[in-house]
This record gives sequence, structure tokens and C-alpha cells, in this order.
Amino acid sequence: MSTSVKKIFKIVTETIFPPKCLVCRSFIDPPQSDDNGYSNAVDLSLDIQSQVERLFAKYLCWNCIGGLVVVESPLCSCCGLPFESRHGLDHCCGDCSAAPKTFRIARAPMVYEQVFTEVIHCYKYKGKIQLARPLGELLFSALRLFWNQDSIDVVIPVPLHLKRFRQRGFNQAYLLIRDWQTFAELMPLDLGDFEIERDVLFRTVSTTPQTGLDRRQRAANIKDAFELVNEAKIIDKRILLVDDVYTTGATVDECARLLLHHGAAQVDVLSLARAV
Ligand SMILES: [Zn+2]
Ligand SMILES: [Zn+2]
Repeated sequence: MSTSVKKIFKIVTETIFPPKCLVCRSFIDPPQSDDNGYSNAVDLSLDIQSQVERLFAKYLCWNCIGGLVVVESPLCSCCGLPFESRHGLDHCCGDCSAAPKTFRIARAPMVYEQVFTEVIHCYKYKGKIQLARPLGELLFSALRLFWNQDSIDVVIPVPLHLKRFRQRGFNQAYLLIRDWQTFAELMPLDLGDFEIERDVLFRTVSTTPQTGLDRRQRAANIKDAFELVNEAKIIDKRILLVDDVYTTGATVDECARLLLHHGAAQVDVLSLARAV
């Protein structure tokens, strides 16, 4: 389709089906944007709050955008939990002091509260797969914010069991990072070379959903649920595990345990949202 035909098609569609906020279903007036690809997609000058406003203006009303909560310091220097008090420096939380995590650090740009929970539900369960783009950009911005240049060798999405993958039709974590190499090429700053590996970590046990389980039950539920192949790809590598939501960290901790056992140099974790 030529660009002008596409534009006319878009105007007609939007007249018949005016866009609505994905969360509250009120009508929105989305900004006109480039639909031609990723050029100018990752604006380095913006902080996470401004990124959120830019990325979700097409999908959410301003009221719902205002309800999104960005993770801010002070936070746990290990698991990334934001502290209630907004004063002081980052430090280790009680939980990480009592039971140190296997991974080195975990970070997330967003708090897993009401509006963002609904955004993730739309993405994972309601077929709004187009959200992979803004969510992936948001995650990439978080990578730049929380990690130094050239500090990751391999990026691994937390895998789904084949049964779950077939039901859903996609791995939500992989779609978020699929375009990272394109983003990295557009960056004026070099993030270093990293590989995205999908054929290293596999989920061999189809666990019951973790929802409703406490920390100990989650850890037991997920134990030995993963298998590692192609070991050579992770030996002595600095790994970044990517997932959608960090709840108790049981899943990523189990993945980290396996990766480190097989020779990974370090394992870090990046999720879209952090449960508090
Ligand atoms: Zn709304
Ligand atoms: Zn912690």
C-alpha cells in the first residue's frame, strides 16, 4: 500500500472505530505518529516518566497515563524493590539481606499497580500484541538507565513451557526484546554487543500458575522447571534475563541458579513491572 492510501485507510478506520483507551475504554485522541518503523523511536533525552507519556499516548487516555507509577529511588540495590520512604539512598531490603538472591541485580521501570497490570493483561491475554512495541521500547530505556555501557553479553527471555506457548501463540518476554538490536543500532551511544538467545533456556515442567502462592510455595513450584542446552553460549557470559513481571523473583532466581551452575559469569534481571 502506498503511504497516501495507508493514510486514507487510517482516517476511515479511525472515523468508524475511534480509538479508545485500552484500560478504561474512554475515547482518546492519539497523537499523529510515524508508522514507518523505529527511526527516532528511542529518544535518549527523555527520562522514564516522559518515555511512558510518549509511548502510551496512542493507547491510553491521559487519566490512565497519570495512574502509571514509575519506579524511583530509593530502591533495594539487589531486587529493585522501591521503598515507601522517598528519602535516603538505595540499600539492600530486609528480604534480600535475610535470603540473598542468586541473581546479582533485578530492575524494572514500572510499579505493578492497577493501570499497568491492565496494560500487561491486554498484552498477554487480550490479543493487544501491538503493545510489544511501546513496552519493548520502555524496557530498552530501562536497560540504558540501570546498566552501564557494555555490561551485558547475552540477553535471554524467560521461556514459557511449550504447552503455554501454543495456547498463547507467542512468548511475551521475547517479543519485548526482539527489536532491541535495531534500537541499539539507532543509538548514538554504544551499548556494546549483546546476543539475544532463545535456544538456551527451556521450560520443561508446566508449572501451575504462580498467582495466589506465597514466596515459599512459588520457589517450590518453580524448582527444576527449566533446562539448559547450548551451554557454550553462556559460559563466562554476563546474562540479562528478561521477564514481564517481577513478583517474588522465584522464577528468575531459579533461572539464575541454573545459568550460574552451568558457568555464566553473572545474571541480572530486567522486568517491565515490579510488584510491591
Ligand atoms: Zn483510560
Ligand atoms: Zn531486595
